[in-house]
Amino acid sequence: MGNMNEIINGAEQVLLHTYNRFPVVFDHGNGVRLYDTDGREYLDFCAGIAVFALGYGNREYNDALKAQIDKLIHTSNLFYSEPLEKAAKALTKAAGMDRVFFTNSGAEAIEGAIKSARKYAYNKDGQTDHEIIAMNNSFHGRTMGALSVTGKKAYREPFYPMIGHIKYADFNDYESVLAQISDKTCAIIMETIQGEGGIYLADPEFLKKIRKLCDEKDILLILDEIQCGMGRSGNMFAFEAYGIKPDILTVAKAVGCGVPVGAFMLTERLADKTLAPGDHGTTYGGNPLVTAAVCEVLRQFEERNITDNVRTVGAYMYDKLEEVMKEYDFITAHRGVGLIQGIELDPDKKKAGDVCKKAVENGLIIITAGANIIRFIPPLVITKEDVDEMTVLLRKALS
Ligand SMILES: *Cc1c(COP(=O)(O)O)cnc(C)c1O
Repeated sequence: MGNMNEIINGAEQVLLHTYNRFPVVFDHGNGVRLYDTDGREYLDFCAGIAVFALGYGNREYNDALKAQIDKLIHTSNLFYSEPLEKAAKALTKAAGMDRVFFTNSGAEAIEGAIKSARKYAYNKDGQTDHEIIAMNNSFHGRTMGALSVTGKKAYREPFYPMIGHIKYADFNDYESVLAQISDKTCAIIMETIQGEGGIYLADPEFLKKIRKLCDEKDILLILDEIQCGMGRSGNMFAFEAYGIKPDILTVAKAVGCGVPVGAFMLTERLADKTLAPGDHGTTYGGNPLVTAAVCEVLRQFEERNITDNVRTVGAYMYDKLEEVMKEYDFITAHRGVGLIQGIELDPDKKKAGDVCKKAVENGLIIITAGANIIRFIPPLVITKEDVDEMTVLLRKALS
C-alpha cells in the first residue's frame, strides 16, 4: 500500500518506453470499479480497452479459469482438448460463422485473415501479386501485416516497407473503394465500427454495396470486430445490424475477457479453399486455459443477456452524452451505438487527452481515440446508475 510512485519509477527504468501511461497502479477490481494500490476507487469506462466486458472479480469466470489451471493449461495444437472443441463450437455459433482458428491477440487474428485471403486467391489462379484494399483511418494492430492494412500513415511510415500490394480507400466512400479495385483484388478489410480511429460506424448503404461488390467479383470481405464485436454494439456482432455477413471475421479483446486470445473465423464456402495443414500455426493459440475462458465468457453472455443490457444502458448513455454535449460548446460531435461511443472536442479549445487525465485524477477512467475524441467503452455489465455517476465525473473533468 502507498508505494505507487516506487512502482511507477521502477517500471519506467526497465520497461521499453512505448506508452505514456496514466500515473496509476491498479491493484484489484470489483464489478465496474478498479482500486489502486493506495485504495482509491475508479469507475471504469475503458474496460482494459474494450476487454473486460463482464466486470472485475467475476466469481464464476475466476472459478472456471482456476479449475482449468489445476487440470491442464497447455498442450499445443498437435492435440485436441475439450475446452478447444467447446469454445470453437460456441464462438462460431455466436458469430454465425463456420470455422475458427484461435490466436493469441487481435493483431494475430488479422495476420490469419490476410493469409486466408491471399491463399484463397492463390488457390484460384496461382498468382502471387494479389491486392487487399484497406480503409483510411482504420486500426488493425501493430504487427507488420496488421500494420500494413492500418489506415494511418504515421503508424506505418517508420517501419516501411510494409507487406506489399495494399491499397487504401476512404471508409464509407464507395467510389473511393471502386477506384482501388482491380482484377488482383482478393480482399477488402474494414472495421464494422472504427474504434481507435474515433468511433465511426459503417454506413449501411456503403457496407451493403461493398458486400454486393465482393459477391460479384469473388473478393473476400474481412470484417474486423476485435473492438466492436462481442456484444459491444448491442448485437453480438456489429455486422448483424446491417443484414450482411463477412467471409472472414476477426475477434479478440472481449472474447476472453482478459486472457490473451483472439480468433479469425471463416465461412464454410472458404474453409476448404484456403489454409491447409502446414500453412499456418501457433504454439499457444487456443490452449485449454484461454479456450476455457472463451467458453465461460460466452456462457455468461447468454445467461446474463449481455446484449440486452448493452442496448438498454447504451441508449441511456447516448441520451446522457447528448445532454452533456449541449452544455459545452467545445464538444463538436457525439457518435456511437451500444457501449461504444465517443465525443469529439474542438482541439483549439480542449484536448481530449487533458480531459481524460483530469477524469482519471477524479476517479473516472476514460480514454481517447482518433483526432481529439473521448471514447466510452465500459464493461458491458454497467447500469444506468453507473452512467449517471460517469456523467457527473465527466462534467467535472470537462469544466
Ligand atoms: C485492438 C485492436 C486490434 C489489435 O488487437 P491486439 O490484441 O492489440 O493485437 C485490431 N483491430 C481492432 C479493431 C482493434 O481494436
